[in-house]
Amino acid sequence: MPCYRCGARQTDPDHGPSPWRRGVREDRQVLICPDCQNGLDWAGELDHCTACGSTTLVCRLGEVECRTCGQVRAAERTPETRVSAGAPGLSEEVAAALSRVLRRGPTT
Ligand SMILES: [Zn+2]
Ligand SMILES: [Zn+2]
Repeated sequence: MPCYRCGARQTDPDHGPSPWRRGVREDRQVLICPDCQNGLDWAGELDHCTACGSTTLVCRLGEVECRTCGQVRAAERTPETRVSAGAPGLSEEVAAALSRVLRRGPTT
């Protein structure tokens, strides 16, 4: 998962804990690279625990858990994957596109 701000790829250090920060933003798990942690109000952009205000949140299957106090709340936004999978008409579109491809057959 790349940094949500600059898109940098995470590199694990040889020793010690990763300087990358995990958080949840708009009910999505995000990572913040060390560069983006410098001098930016990155914590202000992240979701905060409604109970203790911590940003050490973990997002998983429709819920957000606070690693500081253990509070779990339902994610307000449906994960993107589920939205597209459940979008009406999408499977029909895919099926139509597939049948078009199949009908055309190999062109090479
Ligand atoms: Zn970054
Ligand atoms: Zn909390």
